[in-house]
Amino acid sequence: MAQINDHYLKLKSGYLFPEIGRRIKFFSDANPTAKVIRLGIGDVTRPLAPAVIAAFHRGVDDLTRVNSFRGYGPEQGYDWLIDTVIANCFQSRGVQLKPSEIFISDGSKCDCANILDIFALGNKVAVGDPVYPVYNDTNVMVGRTGAADSQGYYDGIRYLTCTAENNFIPAIPTEKVDLIYLCFPNNPTGAVASKEQLQKWVDYALAHEAIILFDAAYEAFITGPEIPHSIYEIPGAGKCAIEFRSFSKSAGFTGVRCALTVVPEALSGKNAQGEPVALNALWNRRQTTKFNGVSYPVQRAAEAVYSPEGQQQNQEIVRYYLENARLIREGLEAVAVSCYGGVNAPYIWLKTPGGMSSWGFFDKLLNECHLVGTPGSGFGPSGEGYFRLSAFGQREDVEEAMSRIKKNLA
Ligand SMILES: *Cc1c(COP(=O)(O)O)cnc(C)c1O
Repeated sequence: MAQINDHYLKLKSGYLFPEIGRRIKFFSDANPTAKVIRLGIGDVTRPLAPAVIAAFHRGVDDLTRVNSFRGYGPEQGYDWLIDTVIANCFQSRGVQLKPSEIFISDGSKCDCANILDIFALGNKVAVGDPVYPVYNDTNVMVGRTGAADSQGYYDGIRYLTCTAENNFIPAIPTEKVDLIYLCFPNNPTGAVASKEQLQKWVDYALAHEAIILFDAAYEAFITGPEIPHSIYEIPGAGKCAIEFRSFSKSAGFTGVRCALTVVPEALSGKNAQGEPVALNALWNRRQTTKFNGVSYPVQRAAEAVYSPEGQQQNQEIVRYYLENARLIREGLEAVAVSCYGGVNAPYIWLKTPGGMSSWGFFDKLLNECHLVGTPGSGFGPSGEGYFRLSAFGQREDVEEAMSRIKKNLA
């Protein structure tokens, strides 16, 4: 019998969403006429922008003709997409990157996980608490941790507490860590980091020769002009940070699949002899061996996100979600619920009223308002007493949800 990877058995096996589903089913069976509105999902609902769809179609049509057919493309992505990304996401914000520093992929979730391939198990890793579970669980899977304790903390991981007391911006560790996951705008808290706050992390990483793994999946939702969109807007980050970007939330690509990872050539780690080795070359080797590129029509669709029409249409979609977020915040504040995020992010993170537990509030919201959200405790122990609502729903549902909250939670 083949032996399994025992580290998988340490995982708290996908408890959150099955438990939510179980409770909704129990409620719906008992209340068959209640219309349950889901404000829990982290998936988009608006269709692809017309300019993106048109380019997607043209990409498919290219495959029907001998002279424009494409087979395997470059594993790193087509240069026309990479050049477009550099010009529109980075150069426009004063960040200079070379095409060889950008790797187009089929998702940030996979890249955040796969990046662990190029780092030794002995590295000390820091993750937020609460956190996007992928960062934590992939470190458990590769065997970097011991077992979870009764609270859900894994032995060997350094957790960075994010609560209202620190405005959901974690304190810099006083000890040395080697890999640090940061996500701004944050899922689940909706928090954003200022230039000054990110500068402290970059200074820490440079001083301790650590690498920052910066997840910018929600940068398109930033509205404040002074908030950085890329970690590379911070001086020194080009020597210590890898950045993950995704078309999923910014352009509705959750089902289409396209993302990118930036690994600057100036980034190094050390080998067993203590000599520096370029991370860019390692990641390139990893990708060319284990990945065969994103499909050609999808890359054409992604390129169209940056056309003038594509940008304008996608900005409109982002504004739609941010307006949902504003309505949710207003609705909650009207019934004196403290909420955070939802201004530069599509998530509202609220403090459960009356010191209720996250699951207690879940049940109250479901039973009294027929609304579903996500218990904060599902994102980590420090999420206990908090709750996440998503702004990715349909406007009518958000409006109906808020009128139920005003009627039943006041
Ligand atoms: C949605 C999301 C992503 C994007 O993942 P994809 O695989 O590109 O769809 C990345 N990071 C966070 C924190 C997310 O919530």
